[in-house]
Amino acid sequence: MSRAAPTLMRRIQGMMFKLPLMITCEEFEAFILSYLEGELSGREKFVFELHMLLCRECREYLAAYRASLELAKESGKSTDEPLPPVPDDLVEAVLAARKR
Ligand SMILES: [Zn+2]
Repeated sequence: MSRAAPTLMRRIQGMMFKLPLMITCEEFEAFILSYLEGELSGREKFVFELHMLLCRECREYLAAYRASLELAKESGKSTDEPLPPVPDDLVEAVLAARKR
């Protein structure tokens, strides 16, 4: 009689939250200005958007941050630009990473 150790699965799931691609909410905040100004590298942008996907708070924070920036600019123009959609392949990459 041999049983597979269920603790191994737990250990693997615990590691999921320590992926090198993960950044904290504080790091996310530090990236916001560079992100909005298009100064992030491809990898930084990916990591940034990954956090945005997984963290609703930061998503809302970014939206509010961007809205206040828009307000701070000249109020002459009135373009209601919606947030850009999240690319499908990014969503798939996140879901795949979570399943493993
Ligand atoms: Zn966050």
